[in-house]
Amino acid sequence: MSPREAGRVSRVVVTPVAFRDPPLLNVVGVHQPYVLRAIVQVHTDAGLMGLGETYADQSHLDRLGAVAAALPGADVFDLNALRAIVVKTLGEGTGGAGASFGGMLEVSSAVDTVVAPFEVALLDLQGRALGRPVSDLLGGAVRDRVPYSGYLFYKWAGHPGHDDDSWGEGRTPEQLVAQARRMVDEYGFTALKLKGGVYEPRHEFETVEALAAAFPGHALRIDPNGAWTVETSVKAAERLSGVLEYLEDPTPGISGMSEVSRQTSIPLATNMCVIAFEHLKPAVAADAVQVVLSDHHLWGGLRRSALLGGICETFGLGLSMHSNSHLGVSLAAMTHLAAATPNLTYACDTHYPWKTEEVVKPGALEFRDGSVAVPTGPGLGVELDEDALAGLHEQYVKCGQRGREDTAYMRSIVPGFTPNTARW
Ligand SMILES: [Mg+2]
Repeated sequence: MSPREAGRVSRVVVTPVAFRDPPLLNVVGVHQPYVLRAIVQVHTDAGLMGLGETYADQSHLDRLGAVAAALPGADVFDLNALRAIVVKTLGEGTGGAGASFGGMLEVSSAVDTVVAPFEVALLDLQGRALGRPVSDLLGGAVRDRVPYSGYLFYKWAGHPGHDDDSWGEGRTPEQLVAQARRMVDEYGFTALKLKGGVYEPRHEFETVEALAAAFPGHALRIDPNGAWTVETSVKAAERLSGVLEYLEDPTPGISGMSEVSRQTSIPLATNMCVIAFEHLKPAVAADAVQVVLSDHHLWGGLRRSALLGGICETFGLGLSMHSNSHLGVSLAAMTHLAAATPNLTYACDTHYPWKTEEVVKPGALEFRDGSVAVPTGPGLGVELDEDALAGLHEQYVKCGQRGREDTAYMRSIVPGFTPNTARW
């Protein structure tokens, strides 16, 4: 395809959507009946349209809307100007008002999270104009397939008041092995991650051991999201060394992780105590983690995530990838990024198997042998299904959720519930 004129940004549309989600349990509560996401469409005066996807809590939507109004006229190749527009629009420097997501992740500046979906959309536009995939714009794909991990959750059989979902209850080690079996059979995953921090640690250790017995040779991880004390984390590391490829966020904070790290040899991973550039220096100085989970939604887009990859390489840190519940626009972006990041050698996390609704047309993103082929079409390589977008927007309007509130939702069912952070 020969290059065509990209044009300048003419119009930006941010559409909040809601898609169904099973009752997946975690340290702060339980997933609500719907996941909220925002689909960003950036149109140019040359008739092109680029896509981005991000969170859709109301405070984030307000910021996205302000930037969307300020973008017309922008050059789609000037990503530094995009960042300047976001900084100016939010009325803050990089240390200004922060952002919070899902009750677990806090950053001191909203700039990176707001830049991200627009940066992805501009890269999609650049690729569409040039006739090249986004992975080429990031330096070129070093792998043509990106491996993902099967993301296992303790869960209820269904949301209270609704029918059971097709996965059923996930509470016992046997039930989690069955859940993993279905994921491995349907998607071919060779890495499995268990979301922990839900039950007392011994139960979760037994679940990991049951998975190891049922899936010999699979790479295993557990992520209790900081539910454990330093002492329990060290015990977990001893008991599960040789079983886990890494232990993710066993205890909260850089100093806690550093204490665990000093007493164990198993690699510690995080997407909680290092989720912004400001956290890298203290984490490296304290040798708190050995693997950083990148996430372009949090780290300011694809090019900033590539920069994170370089920093991790510099300091000898491993690189993996974090996931929140997401749709196909994000999966495409994650796949291009992982393909073009040489030292991203761990299977990336994804919630993809848990969702039953989508906004992109089928065909571009398929799981085979636990991996997704890097789309080779121009830009992200995915096309928006306008009818599906309209349907999921209508669902957003009707569902009444306006933020991610795992703890509040849990309390509506289990009064008095408090998050399990550092509980055990
Ligand atoms: Mg995590």
